[in-house]
Amino acid sequence: MAGRPDDHCTRCGACCAAFRVDFHHSELESRAPGGIPDRLTVSVTATLVRMRGTDAAPPRCVALAGEIGSAVRCTLYASRPSPCRDFAPYAALGIGEDGCDRARVRHGLAPLGG
Ligand code: SF4
Ligand code: SF4
Repeated sequence: MAGRPDDHCTRCGACCAAFRVDFHHSELESRAPGGIPDRLTVSVTATLVRMRGTDAAPPRCVALAGEIGSAVRCTLYASRPSPCRDFAPYAALGIGEDGCDRARVRHGLAPLGG
C-alpha cells in the first residue's frame, strides 16, 4: 500500500481505496506509543478497529493523501497498520498479486503483473 518515494505504490494507492482495513486495537496509539491515532479509526468489535473511510462508498482511507493513479502518500506510512504492511509486499517493486491487481483494475489501472 502507498509506499516509499518513487516506487510503483506511490504512483497508485488503489488498495487504500478499495478494501476494508481492519486490525487489532493493540496497534492503536492509545495502547502502543507510536501507533495509529485512534481518531483515524472506527470501532468494529471489542478488539477490532478499522481505518476510517475504508468502508465508505466509495472507500478511501482517511490517511491517504494525493491522487490515486498519479501521486499518493500514506500519511501514516512509518506506523501504518499491519494489514497495510503485509499487503502485496513486492508491489512497490512492480510485482503484483491478486488483491493488488483487483484494486488497480477497480480504479482503471493496469495490473502490475508478476
Ligand atoms: S494496489 Fe498494488 S501497486 Fe497500488 S498501492 Fe496497492 S499494493 Fe501498491
Ligand atoms: S493506513 Fe496508509 S497504507 Fe493503510 S490503507 Fe490507509 S493510506 Fe493506505
